[in-house]
Amino acid sequence: MKTRFAPSLTGYLHQGHLVNAIWTWGLAQAMGGEVIIRVEDHDQSRARPEFLEALEKDLQWLGFWDLASEIQVQSQRNHFYQEAFEALQEDVYPCQCSRKDIQLFLEKHPEESSDTELRYPNLCRDNHNPLEKKETAYRLRLPHGERTFNDLILGPQSQNPWEQCGDFILKDKQGHWSYQFACVVDDFESGITNVIRGTDLLESTGRQLFLHEKLGNANPPIFAHHHLLKDSSGRKLSKRQKDFAIAQWREEGKDPKLVLGEIAFGMGLIPSKDAVDPASLGEFFTSYKP
Ligand code: GLU
Repeated sequence: MKTRFAPSLTGYLHQGHLVNAIWTWGLAQAMGGEVIIRVEDHDQSRARPEFLEALEKDLQWLGFWDLASEIQVQSQRNHFYQEAFEALQEDVYPCQCSRKDIQLFLEKHPEESSDTELRYPNLCRDNHNPLEKKETAYRLRLPHGERTFNDLILGPQSQNPWEQCGDFILKDKQGHWSYQFACVVDDFESGITNVIRGTDLLESTGRQLFLHEKLGNANPPIFAHHHLLKDSSGRKLSKRQKDFAIAQWREEGKDPKLVLGEIAFGMGLIPSKDAVDPASLGEFFTSYKP
């Protein structure tokens, strides 16, 4: 069993990340597996060096850094993405549509839209003569049809990427690899057997399974999507909410084990806010023991 903790480098670590860290190390310990830390800084327009510095300090302070079997940083892994991108060439096409172009098209053709996200109606699929010089994104041709998988936590799932998102982006107009693409290339290349993440990413799984298949991964990971923590007013804790930055607690000199205890209590794992050791999280997840 090999899994990963994969925070995006678009902000500071917050409580929602700790919920994911507790699930990730908890399941890995219960299942006798290992965890790699993967810093997702594929979006270089949003990643900032101070986020990386704070992430490392936060994870060291909490004790997760030393529990990881490897640390990966996406911006140092360009060659893997480039190689995979070239392998997919037959199924990739250039696209110069702007968000506005897509919105205008969908206003005129509402039957092409999706309820959950801005669906790309595959406008450039058959355009073999993209304008030269204009900045170009690259999309992957999707087939029609459903993807099914058995989520370790949520049970059987079925998704239809064609209807949800349409042909999705592998590389954007600025030349950045997309989350979907970099994530799948990394999971495949690193031999990840289990992906453990929040339900906010559930909708990505069908399209990621399709990408695994396209890249020739005969053993795609098993997926587990856990619930997200809500604040006292019932709002989901967003990954960009600065008010919950872990760095703040670290700088205030809080006990990191009590911070983990507070989160574990919020998740319903313990009856009171006691200290929790990151090396003993497996005991909360014994029902997942193989
Ligand atoms: N980087 C993503 C996030 O922080 C998680 C990616 C994943 O687990 O697939 O939301």
